[in-house]
This record gives sequence, C-alpha cells and structure tokens, in this order.
Amino acid sequence: MAKTVFKKIIDGEIPANVVYEDDRCLAFLDVNPQAPIHFLVIPRTEIPSLASASDSDRELLGHLLLVAHNVAKEQGLSDGYRTVINIGEDGGQTVPHLHIHVLGGRRLSWPPG
Ligand code: AMP
Repeated sequence: MAKTVFKKIIDGEIPANVVYEDDRCLAFLDVNPQAPIHFLVIPRTEIPSLASASDSDRELLGHLLLVAHNVAKEQGLSDGYRTVINIGEDGGQTVPHLHIHVLGGRRLSWPPG
C-alpha cells in the first residue's frame, strides 16, 4: 500500500511545521488552515481511521486527546477551540491516517457543513 502523506511526514520524507512530538504522536500545522490556528494530532502508528481503532488503542486515543488540549493551550487558545475527527467518505476524511483536527482563534459556527 502507498504511504500516506502523514506517514511521509512521520518518516521525515516531507516537511511539516511540527508544534509537538513525542514517542507516540506528532502535532503539526495544517497546510490548508480553516481557522487562524489549525493543527493536526496524529499517532505515529498507522491507524487508518477512528473506525479501525480497537480496544488496544484505548490508551493511545486518550493520549492524542490530551496532547490536542495541551498544544491548544500552548497555542494560546484560552477562549476555546474545536476538535474534529473526520471518518470515512461521508465524514469528509481525505487522508487515511487517523488525525484530530484542532481549530481555534476565531468564533466557530455550528453545525458544521
Ligand atoms: P481530513 O480531510 O480530515 O482527512 O483532513 C486532512 C487534512 O490534512 C486537511 O485539512 C489537509 O489540509 C491536511 N493536509 C494534507 N496534506 C498535508 C501536509 N502535507 N501538511 C499538513 N497538512 C496536510
């Protein structure tokens, strides 16, 4: 199977504006930001989507959410922000590597499109 763009970022094959990394995950700025602050949190391990996560990923999923919050705080999103996980075609997922979007820095509308 061809490497996803996120796997290439993990492997250092293409550049990314990394704002946080540890042994389990990476956070980097979205190349097509939908808000003044828009970054993605991804696991280093290749999980195609939330739909393919399993019980053994429980701890990792919790870690990703806490990293999303900690980086949002570091990025100055003290008035709030939004996390989004797109899943599959109807969910608007375009990169088949699980990722959490974190968006903030402006008032976000609801519901999303
Ligand atoms: P999704 O549509 O939920 O799968 O989100 C994929 C996101 O990845 C989109 O917001 C893209 O702008 C973003 N993206 C794609 N390629 C890159 C890249 N090379 N660096 C940073 N973000 C990217």
